[in-house]
Amino acid sequence: MQYMTFKELEVIEPILKALQEKGYTHPTPIQEQAIPILLKGKDLLGCAQTGTGKTAAFAIPILQHLYLDKTRNRNQRQIKALIVTPTRELAIQIADNFTEYGEHTDIRNTVIFGGIKQGSQTNALRRGVDVLVATPGRLLDLMNQGFISLKNVEYFVLDEADQMLDMGFVHDIKKLITKLPVKRQSLFFSATMPKTIVELSGKILGNYESVTVKPEQATAERVGQAVYFVSKADKTKLLVHVLKEENAVSTLVFARTKHGADKVVKVLSKAKITAEAIHGNKSQNARQRALSNFKEGKTKVLVATDIAARGIDISDLALVINYDLPNVPETYVHRIGRTGRASASGISISFCNIEERPYLKDIEKLIKQQIPVVSTHPYADASKEELIPDKKPQGNNGQKAKPKNNGNRNNWRGNKSKSSS
Ligand code: AMP
Repeated sequence: MQYMTFKELEVIEPILKALQEKGYTHPTPIQEQAIPILLKGKDLLGCAQTGTGKTAAFAIPILQHLYLDKTRNRNQRQIKALIVTPTRELAIQIADNFTEYGEHTDIRNTVIFGGIKQGSQTNALRRGVDVLVATPGRLLDLMNQGFISLKNVEYFVLDEADQMLDMGFVHDIKKLITKLPVKRQSLFFSATMPKTIVELSGKILGNYESVTVKPEQATAERVGQAVYFVSKADKTKLLVHVLKEENAVSTLVFARTKHGADKVVKVLSKAKITAEAIHGNKSQNARQRALSNFKEGKTKVLVATDIAARGIDISDLALVINYDLPNVPETYVHRIGRTGRASASGISISFCNIEERPYLKDIEKLIKQQIPVVSTHPYADASKEELIPDKKPQGNNGQKAKPKNNGNRNNWRGNKSKSSS
């Protein structure tokens, strides 16, 4: 198969150089589709989620436009591009990406978000930036205080619009739109397109083109998946067992609740496995610290709730464990997309107790796959499987039972071998 190159997409030299340094050899599908549209100056409706490469899909053309803009005042910088995203973690990551892709340009960015003092943020704004990445609350706050003017904005990106809706930011966004210049290029990204989101996009976009990438199947196909049936009471023991057996360098564990995440960290610490939790009850500093410890390999396991984990970008994540199965099937796809990013492939293991079996069914329906069952583990819970009509017992309490769908226990990993081996 012939892949396109960034050069063929007419990306300019200084950016190509940065992409090369990042190790991006080829554009992802959303980049391939969106970059030409955006370089032409058109508005864009992107139906895509984190993990597809969408940040570079919008950051590259914006950087390129700004770089080529002869009128841009390098001495007195004005905010020319505004990217609004729902969470602090996403905001930081987007700004980092702008810095990386723009490394060989003179374009400056900064990031603002709530939960910390504003001093360093207003100082950065005073020094002047071309690109501002912001969460909605802090943005409006600093606008009201007179630190930010949007009157020079030419590029506006609304990222993760459906998440904005879930987090109650829609009113803020509507207010924000009224402050933007009418003449601008607008980009609107959302993983899902319910009616309210389509209506909102209508308020933001002019004459637009749309791009849809469906990561659901693609992600699910790339990631080696398995499900371990286990009773609720045995989940922590199973987690310790799996972590020791897999010995993966960096593992992200999803828990449904903040309390559950803290509990898991305690159990792991007792078992001498370094772990930290990130969730909404932690301060911004604590979350950032936990994230950098994890990225630097100081902690092996990061335990996260869905909201806190949104947008976490760790490229060599080897293993994702669903300690609890999510009741929304799309969330499962988001979670396992944390591994198997862009070009990498990964492994996802899900723990499923009897109450979670209906969630498993919904997930399998969405991804159009049956997730292989591994029952050769010491806490296999096959006792109640006959209660689930379409899930025949796979094992005999962990005694050399074969996983579903294949004869080889490790087949679900695809070509991937255990990182410990
Ligand atoms: P995003 O969807 O923007 O969060 O990007 C997901 C991940 O894919 C990030 O770790 C990016 O650094 C990475 N990525 C983006 N574009 C490419 C590419 N063309 N090749 C390889 N990795 C990429």
